[in-house]
Amino acid sequence: TLPQAEDHADVLIVGAGPAGLMLANWLSRCGVKTRIVDKRGTKIFNGQADGLQCRTLEIFDSFDFADRAWRESNHMLEICLWNPDEQGRIRRSDRIPDTIPGISRFQQVVLHQGRIERFFLDSIKEHSDIVVERGVLPTTFEFDDAKADDFNEYPINVTVRTLSDVESTPQQQQQHHKSADGKETTVSDGLFRSNLAADDTDDLIRAAEANSRVDQVESIKAKFLVGCDGAHSWVRRQLGFQLEGDSTDYIWGVLDIVPITDFPDIRQRCAIHSANAGSVMVIPRENKLVRLYIQLQSTEHAQAGGKADRSWITPEIILQSAQKILHPYKLDYSYCDWWTAYQIGQRVGNQFSLKERVFLAGDAVHTHSPKAGQGMNVSMQDTYNLGWKLAHVVKGYSDPSILKTYQSERRKIAQDLIAFDHRFSRLFSGRPAKDIMDEEGVSMEEFKAAFEKGNEFASGIAVNYGASLIVAKEGDDTSIAQDKSTRVISKPQLAAKIDIGKRMPSFKVLNQSDARPWHLQELLKSNGKWRIIVFPGHLSAPTNMQRMQTLGARLGAKDSFIHRYTPTNQQIDSVIEVLTVHAGPRASLELLDLPEAFHPYSETLGWDYWKVFVDDQSYHEGHGQAYVNYGIDPVKGASVILRPDQYVSWVGEVDDYDEMERFFAGFMKAQNLEKE
Ligand code: FAD
Repeated sequence: TLPQAEDHADVLIVGAGPAGLMLANWLSRCGVKTRIVDKRGTKIFNGQADGLQCRTLEIFDSFDFADRAWRESNHMLEICLWNPDEQGRIRRSDRIPDTIPGISRFQQVVLHQGRIERFFLDSIKEHSDIVVERGVLPTTFEFDDAKADDFNEYPINVTVRTLSDVESTPQQQQQHHKSADGKETTVSDGLFRSNLAADDTDDLIRAAEANSRVDQVESIKAKFLVGCDGAHSWVRRQLGFQLEGDSTDYIWGVLDIVPITDFPDIRQRCAIHSANAGSVMVIPRENKLVRLYIQLQSTEHAQAGGKADRSWITPEIILQSAQKILHPYKLDYSYCDWWTAYQIGQRVGNQFSLKERVFLAGDAVHTHSPKAGQGMNVSMQDTYNLGWKLAHVVKGYSDPSILKTYQSERRKIAQDLIAFDHRFSRLFSGRPAKDIMDEEGVSMEEFKAAFEKGNEFASGIAVNYGASLIVAKEGDDTSIAQDKSTRVISKPQLAAKIDIGKRMPSFKVLNQSDARPWHLQELLKSNGKWRIIVFPGHLSAPTNMQRMQTLGARLGAKDSFIHRYTPTNQQIDSVIEVLTVHAGPRASLELLDLPEAFHPYSETLGWDYWKVFVDDQSYHEGHGQAYVNYGIDPVKGASVILRPDQYVSWVGEVDDYDEMERFFAGFMKAQNLEKE
């Protein structure tokens, strides 16, 4: 093998939608040799997914582009529920906050997928020479089983072919609309990416193979292959893996318009149940747009195979349905940006990985209805989970066993997502109950309760990874064999409000050296580093200072685990970074009173002033009360280990160096072996 050659990639990604781009973005930050191909000639320009959860914005912030999404998006603060009254006329019955207050420093926003893909592309370009290879289609896949256990080998061989411009451009229908004022408009449809459209991959493969230009064929050898190629996934087909679940006959229409209406809540997110005409979800969008998700009650159009004939679905049909639901309010438009139709299929992949060499992510392993705004978020979060793990294995920092946690962590999330979608779809799609005796109807009280509960799930913050090599908590993870007697287990009571397995919550702390307030999460950039956050409590207490001296001496020693796992030619904080948040007051401590391990010294750069923080009153932004909010006693303190993706791995005593060492020894690989 020729590992440096162009045709050898550490990671080959198929599909440059949200899942594929998130992965390429992670790998661009970690310096992993990556290729990414997509059969389409261009990225998305409008329509498609638009909801961004709080957790997704937190992740974007860790890559330094949340501000772009935050600025350009429409912010959703309130949800209004509309139901029929006794006369069958729709009325506003409730207002609830869109994002549960206090759950994150971000709130849910909407911005179309094309912009999000743009942010990723810019970020990838800024940090690497990875380029999305468009109009490039994989046509054959081979997997050499004999090489699967040696992680220096390239067991994957994929032939890719370059398509012509015509082939890589999907066909779109044009539709015309005449508004009440007689103005005519034309719009392209988004059906080509809908799950109602037939998959064109096989036709494209045939076309590409018929193409005789040899320079358009290449064989790529890869250590890892990740299928981010959407619901029809070609990679999934190569592996013979299945999606399991049903495909119901609910068909939804989606219309992005600038509305002309007298409906009072058109700039709120609304769930509107009419008495007999169905339901609509209103999503106010950026650029004066409003998205309408409408259930088209036409199960009679479903065909035997479960897929519906879509020829009858037009923007007019979708608009007319909305008009009936919103009656007596009026609704029309002169400008339509995009539209599509969707059939609800709720399915999860039976396997997410082949021997931890080939992985599936995003719509390739879970599909569900679009209206809870989850698909794009969960898809990106799949590869946010996978990216750093692949990077650490490729770079030799970590044992490949951590890759098993991709399936154990993400398949559970996909299953929860489908269960959530099931409940939510039934409640959303059902006819409202007329009274409590109407058992077939949906109780609007139940709908509201489910909506409120669903909101936590839908924020993405509720994700809680189970026990594993990299999450030290009670509980079984059957996918990873571990000897219980030697397992590292946290002491969760030391940080009562930090959930092990969930992402680290964020509160404001001040930099010890310059008093600037930071949200703790802003310190946790996605750059591939593990982090130990030491909360030593009040350092004016001699015992607490003594513990810091002891811990600092051990972490800083030449034979410490931090040195062992960091390649000699790299900065000491490049694999495991130590941050400190003491309980204050800020003025009671001088940075240099702490051992060097807490503010490393470099000959060229001097002391590191960006590692020690304090839970104290700021001059302009109040007091974050981090110790109270994390449930840490400032008399005793605690230490916390965070994964490179901000999820909490371990909570223990401030100076429990031995347990920290045991935790990392479970999966990290010693570097600098020649010197030991
Ligand atoms: P995709 O976005 O499908 O990307 C797959 C990529 O792979 C594409 O670029 C495709 O060209 C490429 N590809 C496919 N096959 C091949 C092949 N054989 N070779 C090479 N390349 C290939 N989600 C939300 O979170 N919020 C929402 O509000 C929301 N609304 C939606 C509204 C609509 C109308 C639709 C259709 C979807 C919506 N979704 C929403 C879902 C969201 O779009 C998907 O879940 C998300 O795009 C999945 O991302 P992905 O990267 O897994 O797959």
